[in-house]
Amino acid sequence: MRIVHFFRKMNVILFMSFLVYSLIFISLIAALENFNWKQLFDNFQISDLEKKAYLIMDDMRNQGIFEGPLSEEQQSWLSRRAALHGMLLEFESKDRKTVWFNSFTRATPVPESSIRELPYTAGGATRGYLRMAYILENNELDPTFVEFQEALNLRSKLLFSLIVVVSIAFSFLIARMLSRHLKNVDELAKQISTGQRDITIPVKGPDEVRRLAATLNEMSRELKKQEDWRHHLMEDLTHELRTPLTSMLSQIEAIVDGVYEADNERMQDIYEELIRLSRLVNDLERLSEAESARFTLNIRRTNMVQLARRVYNNYIPVARSKNIKLMFESTNVPCYAQVDRDKIVQVLSNIVMNAIKYTSEGGRVTIRVDWNVDETIISCEDNGTGISENDLPYIFNRLYRADKSRSRFSGGVGLGLSIAKALVEAHDGTIRAESKLGRGSRFTVTLPNEYNAYQREAMD
Ligand code: ADP
Repeated sequence: MRIVHFFRKMNVILFMSFLVYSLIFISLIAALENFNWKQLFDNFQISDLEKKAYLIMDDMRNQGIFEGPLSEEQQSWLSRRAALHGMLLEFESKDRKTVWFNSFTRATPVPESSIRELPYTAGGATRGYLRMAYILENNELDPTFVEFQEALNLRSKLLFSLIVVVSIAFSFLIARMLSRHLKNVDELAKQISTGQRDITIPVKGPDEVRRLAATLNEMSRELKKQEDWRHHLMEDLTHELRTPLTSMLSQIEAIVDGVYEADNERMQDIYEELIRLSRLVNDLERLSEAESARFTLNIRRTNMVQLARRVYNNYIPVARSKNIKLMFESTNVPCYAQVDRDKIVQVLSNIVMNAIKYTSEGGRVTIRVDWNVDETIISCEDNGTGISENDLPYIFNRLYRADKSRSRFSGGVGLGLSIAKALVEAHDGTIRAESKLGRGSRFTVTLPNEYNAYQREAMD
């Protein structure tokens, strides 16, 4: 079991594969080289033998016609020729029944493959066959030749062992190098899984490991964000719930104790607190939906001027009841963008509703739609209370209300802008606010005209 575990280790697998690969490679090269040299040498010998055979045959013709049985003189002539060229010779009759001359018997058996045979023609007729081979033994018995060959062998063995050792070391180093980064990532990932969030895995090593490290870092950051989010939400919520609950509890306690009368006015107070609480719960639900909206967007090509005009129409009665002048300005060309209509209506409703809410009677609210090739820009400007410089950076935070008492009075729970922001960001858009206290505010939503799902995926 431990052996199996050992062989499943990344560095062992890498080491083995590099080693096997390099050994196969080296052996292949060695075999090819040997085979090649031998083959070349064999080819050379055969063609050389042929050349010499023709020379001998030519010489034989010059000596007169050789035909068996050969005279003493002819035999010693052939012996001399064979010795001169360092080869074995056999001369046999045309019907291959009689051997007229043979020096093969002097040597150990010669393999058929290294024998060359040619017909001997003289005077226009084939007289017999000449067979020849090199006397290899001569060379092989030569001590200097043997010594040379042994030295050569030794060197190639040494070279081979050196290459093997180098490739073992090389495989070991590469395997260790590759697996080291992975091991580091694994160790840090384990720490992340135990709840440590302040860890950043170094993005090092091969591309895949780098990507893994980057993904884990991203994941750890996202986890931290989520945990912080949850933590802050709990804090905000407890805080937000405590005030109305305490107020209601003390009022009811006083009624139960008989300190207060359960009159209409008191019941109205409690009723309003309860309405606020249920609005808070509803808005929280909407915020949670908005924050996961990017996964559920129902994207459609939409005429944004029409869409903004719809929101404008919806709010005319509310504005009129507060004696606020609600206006709509847009380019004359229809501008199209790919958006989730309901979600964008919700965004615009939130900011237009705020503008009306935080503008006093006789004020003015203007909705504007602008357009360029890449984006649609919708803004909502009012000349209402405005937001102080101190509050401005936080108004998009959950449950943040610039002026607690006044917003509480106006019924806001501080979630409208967080919902709007989450929905706009789900579209890859932006939302920003400019404001001057006492002068008014302008909220600007910018949405890309093309919704790029692929980009979203890559970013995720
Ligand atoms: P709320 O439900 O309290 O309106 P929002 O998230 O919609 O919560 O807004 C957060 C805070 O931003 C508000 O409490 C308010 O103080 C401020 N705010 C938003 N819009 C405007 C505006 N048009 N004019 C002035 N203040 C605004």
